[in-house]
Amino acid sequence: MIQVNGIQKAYQQTTVLKEIEFSVCKGEFFGIIGPNGSGKSTLLKMISGVIPYDVGEIVIQDKPLRKYARKELAQILAVLEQEGLPPVGFRVREVMEMGRFPFQNWLGEEAEDATALIDEIIEMLGLSALEDRTLDQLSGGEKQRVALGKALVQKPKLLLLDEPTTYLDIGYQIQLMDIVKGWQKTTGVTVVAVLHDLNLASLYCDRILMLHKGKQVQVGGPREIMTSSLIEDVYGTRPIVMEHPVHQLPQIFLKSEMGK
Ligand code: ADP
Ligand code: MG
Repeated sequence: MIQVNGIQKAYQQTTVLKEIEFSVCKGEFFGIIGPNGSGKSTLLKMISGVIPYDVGEIVIQDKPLRKYARKELAQILAVLEQEGLPPVGFRVREVMEMGRFPFQNWLGEEAEDATALIDEIIEMLGLSALEDRTLDQLSGGEKQRVALGKALVQKPKLLLLDEPTTYLDIGYQIQLMDIVKGWQKTTGVTVVAVLHDLNLASLYCDRILMLHKGKQVQVGGPREIMTSSLIEDVYGTRPIVMEHPVHQLPQIFLKSEMGK
């Protein structure tokens, strides 16, 4: 689905990503983790075509990214960004309708009526009672679900998420991740998610790319990535890694140097 071949990127004179090389399979749930400033958002923005890369190539569905027209790309991929919502004042349903923009002609008309699809997604996200509210009348968790809804109504083949659970409490974190996973199971969408929470990354991702100071440390399944030594090398703190009692996946426990 995606091939990232030897990507390098500098802002002004500073290299922020180099020698990035991995591929994402169709239908995969692929995670990107790494400390603050390691280049995760930059990488995701390059995959979504928002910013150019200096060296290398990104190929999406066997076609180099630079050969895509903007609208053509928008018909394939959708992005959930931290600040991805339109200014306040828009209503929930209006925001969802904006997600259909890539499929409309210049008159704002669509070949197929998307109303049923939008209804279905509003229902799935538990936003039915809120659909006439404006964005400023929503909580953080509700807003994040609206942002996800706007991405899902595009029916993307590729869904890109940048720290979708930041600022959400644990209930909403799991709810949002489960919605994405459920949507992935029914539609087969490929998901690439930047996640700052290592435990969530381990629970939801098939494979994970770990970045450190703009370099690719490793790509692998949760068991390969979630080791105390690798995490210590990258994050500078050595956690205890144990298997999740229900999901049989590695989870980390942070360890204080001070004791209690
Ligand atoms: P992450 O998402 O992992 O926290 P980013 O991709 O946002 O990291 O940033 C990687 C590095 O690039 C950081 O050092 C950041 O300061 C720098 N950076 C990000 N965006 C810009 C920009 N528009 N101009 C200059 N430097 C930037
Ligand atoms: Mg970021």
